[in-house]
Amino acid sequence: MARINENYQKLQAGYLFPEIGRRVAAFAAAHAGAEIIRLGIGDVTLPLAPAVVEALRAAADEMGTEEGFRGYGPERGGYGFLVEAVREHDYRTRGVEVADDELFFSDGSKQDSGNFQEIFDASCRIAVTDPVYPVYVDTNVMAGRTGEARDDGYYDGIVYLPATEENGFTPDPPDRAVDLVYLCSPNNPTGAVASRENLERWVAWARECGAVIVFDAAYDAFISDPDLPRSIFEIDGARECAVEMRSFSKRAGFTGVRCAYTVVPHEACGTTASGERVPLNGLWARRQATKFNSVPYPIQRAAAAVFSADGRKQTHEQVAYYLENARVLREGLGAAGFTLFGGVHAPYIWMRTPEGMGSWDCFDRLLERAHVVATPGAGFGPAGEGYIRISAFNSRQKVERAVELIREAFAAS
Ligand SMILES: *Cc1c(COP(=O)(O)O)cnc(C)c1O
Repeated sequence: MARINENYQKLQAGYLFPEIGRRVAAFAAAHAGAEIIRLGIGDVTLPLAPAVVEALRAAADEMGTEEGFRGYGPERGGYGFLVEAVREHDYRTRGVEVADDELFFSDGSKQDSGNFQEIFDASCRIAVTDPVYPVYVDTNVMAGRTGEARDDGYYDGIVYLPATEENGFTPDPPDRAVDLVYLCSPNNPTGAVASRENLERWVAWARECGAVIVFDAAYDAFISDPDLPRSIFEIDGARECAVEMRSFSKRAGFTGVRCAYTVVPHEACGTTASGERVPLNGLWARRQATKFNSVPYPIQRAAAAVFSADGRKQTHEQVAYYLENARVLREGLGAAGFTLFGGVHAPYIWMRTPEGMGSWDCFDRLLERAHVVATPGAGFGPAGEGYIRISAFNSRQKVERAVELIREAFAAS
């Protein structure tokens, strides 16, 4: 018999989005014709920028010619034109130098943030914030790095760092050593952004205890204050202890196109059982070369078009549109007396549930009375209980309507 990986059975049943889908479908079936406004799942809604579409088309045509045809991509995934564009626009503009062979391209940051743990031993102790993007936790559960899920929703063996109103949803490092920590800024789900000082404390702590920081910057394009760090490599010493993931998904609407990259600096190391230091760059290169065959050429051309003058302007406008939606939500709901966080440097509003309601009760109230779908905070971890995530990924008109409907849903009680 083929014995299964029983770690999969530790995964908590009723994953968040299927459960939301089930409740929304049941509501829709019982209320034919009701217009439902979806501010739940974190997916973009605007169409691809014209510069991106043009590049995709041109690259598809090129692939149909003898001179332009390309097969498997380069070893670390990225063609020179894309590697150079990222180095220039994402890093040099922030005073950060990244080498060609430190950039690994892939088909998504979900994959990269989920796969990165593979190059570490099963005994590594991991730390995550609570609430958290579930991928970091579940992939470590699958790899056997945790015990069972407890009744309170936590897994034995993981160090949880509560992200609370008191710490501005950006927790400081724990007072003990761990091996691998996942940070996401701007944050999904809380919409909080890490300050330079907070990241400095993380880097100092990681260097002190030999931890590796997996820094997920999927929402960096939403940072509108130029003084806030967009990359962890803007912090001195981060090259020795951090890797960084960025995606074209949220910054340029690539959720259905698929392109992302991970920076693994040459200085970042792990250790063997005997204490020998081993660079992570070589391990990740080996892992990717064995299990991944690069991002399609037309997709890389589309990604590079994001950095062209037109592409920068058009994708900047898309991000600005979502941020304006976030402002409409923040100000509209704030004026109505709701307590809200995030939504300034992120497309997510993290709203305290009114009247001390549970997250799922609040979800049901919004669905039934406002016909608005949001995401219960408890779905992102126990500390998310008492909050609900409202996404700014929708049309201006629907977001404005949602503000009115949410106000009415609670005014009526
Ligand atoms: C959306 C998102 C990503 C991006 O994932 P892709 O696979 O690149 O689409 C990564 N991390 C977080 C926290 C996200 O919310």
